[in-house]
Amino acid sequence: MNILILGSGGREHALAWATMQNPKCDKLIVAPGNAGIAQIAECAALDIEDSGVVAEFASENAIDLVIIGPEAPLAAGVGDRLRDAGLLVFGPSAAAARLEASKSFTKEICDAAGAPTAAYGHFTDAEAAKAYVRDQGAPIVVKADGLAAGKGVIIAETVAEAEAAIDDMFGGAFGGAGAEVVIEEFMTGEEASFFVLVDGETCLPIGTAQDHKRVGEGDTGLNTGGMGAYSPAPVMTDAVTQKALDEIVRPTMSEMVQRGMPYQGVLYVGLMIENGQPRLVEYNVRFGDPECQVLMMRLGAQAFDLMHACAESRLADTGVTWADDHAMTVVLAAKGYPGSYAKGTVIGGLSDLPEDSFHQMFHAGTRRDGESVVASGGRVLNATARGATLAEAQQRAYSLADAVDWSDGFFRRDIGWRALG
Ligand code: ATP
Repeated sequence: MNILILGSGGREHALAWATMQNPKCDKLIVAPGNAGIAQIAECAALDIEDSGVVAEFASENAIDLVIIGPEAPLAAGVGDRLRDAGLLVFGPSAAAARLEASKSFTKEICDAAGAPTAAYGHFTDAEAAKAYVRDQGAPIVVKADGLAAGKGVIIAETVAEAEAAIDDMFGGAFGGAGAEVVIEEFMTGEEASFFVLVDGETCLPIGTAQDHKRVGEGDTGLNTGGMGAYSPAPVMTDAVTQKALDEIVRPTMSEMVQRGMPYQGVLYVGLMIENGQPRLVEYNVRFGDPECQVLMMRLGAQAFDLMHACAESRLADTGVTWADDHAMTVVLAAKGYPGSYAKGTVIGGLSDLPEDSFHQMFHAGTRRDGESVVASGGRVLNATARGATLAEAQQRAYSLADAVDWSDGFFRRDIGWRALG
């Protein structure tokens, strides 16, 4: 098969790595890709949010399956346009992608399906939102309704802080994303991510993970896109996983079918778990980054068969072969991230790294500059490893990270602390 993957991060490098190992893959193109992806696949410089451009490129290159990595092209309807052109696509329609693009839409679907989630109100008017906050008290969570790159969520410790966040959002701090505001009960517990392939009504779990959002060790400092992850998440016991499927994922996916917008693709289920009871924090309509890196490390070549089966609506006849293993990824970021950082710094030591089914250095913000690989973004590399235990995966991931020669980068030393104690 000829396969096209859209995206340029560590997530897409991991998807490309798993796909390349599958004997069904004759040719792989990644658009736009990065320096690491370019070592294993052809890269094409395309505007991946322009559905016309992607559709034309796919037909010119006789593509059999398009795998869409990030949310922006999904929300922009690239999947719909490709399907209209008769292509096979892994990823939801723009209508179903509202599960990520609109928080109030997801809350409404949860209400209709009876899925456990935080109590909430949604508002288009600041005064009504503030009155609700005063009535509920703090702590309370204020969210811009639309896509705000993970920055549109304020956990307010006081009513005054919540009121200020409401003024900011209606004042345009998040552009159109803040024209509507969702206010949620503050949930306590432990967070985990649960990944499920969905083709309409059929839901197939493909793994769990926990990420590390804060930039500093001990989960301190500013929020980032994610500084590391591991899989599986110990808090996702079989009982919690079953509850999440039966009480949250299946009822909401049935609700989507009933509304004429069946979901197809990977569903990222963000959960808060307390006393064995999962509640939904958020849905994302794509793999997480860096969670995808640890899932791909564990699934290997079968990940492509699973995505292919999902795109062809064959999940009902598909199963996952699990190894009793663990994976970890450690993100190497440019010094200064998530604030301002330098671009173009040279990264050494990459050519000597062990790269096999236990160790992979997935690239994110990298590009080639002559003979060198240089940093071109905030999150730059993902040192990813697999082992029989999480401790073994951790030791391997850190030996990979330590072997990189990049004085302008940094990484957290404590990825996995929650699970390893
Ligand atoms: P991202 O894209 O970074 O995942 P997002 O903008 O989609 O973020 P959410 O996932 O809804 O926003 O919230 C971000 C984080 O805020 C969650 O991972 C969680 O830690 C915290 N959070 C969100 N809602 C609640 C809640 N109701 N109670 C407690 N914590 C919450």
